[in-house]
Amino acid sequence: MSSIRLYNTLTNKNDELKPINPPEVKMYTCGPTVYHYAHIGNLRSYIMEDILEKFLNYAGYRVNRVMNITDVGHLTSDADTGEDKMLKGAKREKKSVMEIAKYYEDAFFDDCSKLNIKKPDTVEPATDCIPDFINVIDALEKKHYAYRAGGNVYFDTSKLKTYYQLSNQDEEELKDAVREDVTVDSNKKNKTDFVLWFTKSKFDNQELKWDSPWGTGYPGWHIECSCIGMKHLGETLDIHCGGVDNIFPHHTNEIAQSEAYVGHKWCNHWFHVAHLNVDSGKMSKSADNFLTVSLLEEKGYNPLAYRYFCLQSHYRKPLVFSFENLDNAARSYEKLLKRLSVLIKDVEAKTGEPYKVKEIEEPEKSATCKFDEVYKEFREKFNDALGNDLNTAAAFTVLYDVLKADICSNAKLIIVNDFDKVFSLNLIDEAMKIGDDSTVTIDADLEGYILSKIEERKQAKKAKDFAKADAIRDELKEKGIELKDTREGTTYTLV
Ligand code: AMP
Ligand code: ZN
Repeated sequence: MSSIRLYNTLTNKNDELKPINPPEVKMYTCGPTVYHYAHIGNLRSYIMEDILEKFLNYAGYRVNRVMNITDVGHLTSDADTGEDKMLKGAKREKKSVMEIAKYYEDAFFDDCSKLNIKKPDTVEPATDCIPDFINVIDALEKKHYAYRAGGNVYFDTSKLKTYYQLSNQDEEELKDAVREDVTVDSNKKNKTDFVLWFTKSKFDNQELKWDSPWGTGYPGWHIECSCIGMKHLGETLDIHCGGVDNIFPHHTNEIAQSEAYVGHKWCNHWFHVAHLNVDSGKMSKSADNFLTVSLLEEKGYNPLAYRYFCLQSHYRKPLVFSFENLDNAARSYEKLLKRLSVLIKDVEAKTGEPYKVKEIEEPEKSATCKFDEVYKEFREKFNDALGNDLNTAAAFTVLYDVLKADICSNAKLIIVNDFDKVFSLNLIDEAMKIGDDSTVTIDADLEGYILSKIEERKQAKKAKDFAKADAIRDELKEKGIELKDTREGTTYTLV
């Protein structure tokens, strides 16, 4: 197993991943709140978490992954105010909460499957775990970490010296961020206290309710992730994932209640994905500025082009979505498939048989190919890129280096197929779908375009308009076409 360094929100640095019980990695993921379709921002987080899981498996670990489905308790404000999001969805569609939950959970997994996001080993809806929540809340109360006020049960954050350990933010700023909430909920002893169990005060319209030692009510949002994680993965997690908006208060509160309950450190590594943004800011379900996978499909995009788009940037950098950016990614994805289809046809021409995907164990060795050597070298580079805080863009550079390498087409395809166990872009299957005709026409178009640009640049140079000449070279480079000036003239490579 190679060494893997990942940024850890808890320590604020790239830490080497050290699972408690290797090769197993216990990984928990906050699941969707199923009151609406997942938007492509949510799905950016799930794509990157999927890459992490697949890379860990590729590197020799065995990931055991658990995800909750939030079907109760998540209020419109993460700080326990507003109405239950599920109820909001049910009212919007004049259906019951459980109908809404089922519909949007199924829709979520349909979207995941279109994006090749693997379903976690265990998926559990919050409403199936009410007795587990009650047990933990009861224990927290017995340990004096919880108090009752106004009919609700609250977690007392002042009991923990390390409450802000995850946020790495200025404590005063965070206090300001939740100050507003205090004026709304006068039951709280401290601004940052949060609800473990709701009863009367916020209960009027709640559709789903359960008996508990504190009266009929429903759980808070944060408790569900702690309990579902502990139920399936035990008292310590190796990795916990989510989007950055979950750092505070959700994950901060998960740590507070879990560590109060187990009495020791709960999760070693916190993995957070930065947001997908649009012009108007963060893409969010509540802001109604969101795009879905179905909408991308209606517009003619292959969902995997969106996956490709996400993989071109680092998961910790905010990513701006625009159709122009998606078009560029879709074109590069298409171009990559075309290059692979040429390799497939080359192998087919040599073997006289339809191409069959070959696994790494069965390369067709030939003296010119040096398969074992090159594979080892490329695999190391690929592992280094992803093992360095999951640098997917750098891992793609390795894939493109494979395509440029001086090895046979068959070897290239085997390595690409191997890398695709992590990328999950169906590279070989999609490339095999590309027919002869389309390859020839598109390639001819591309060739014609590049040659006309080379000519335009030549003329610009002749006219001593070097700025224009450089601009043409940069423009092509951005499109993945690299020019090289040689004594014989200008040549190009697709990178
Ligand atoms: P939710 O369904 O709102 O509970 O969110 C599901 C997941 O999507 C959580 O991990 C969020 O942190 C994440 N998320 C929400 N908005 C975005 C966004 N615009 N970009 C990336 N991830 C997001
Ligand atoms: Zn969660």
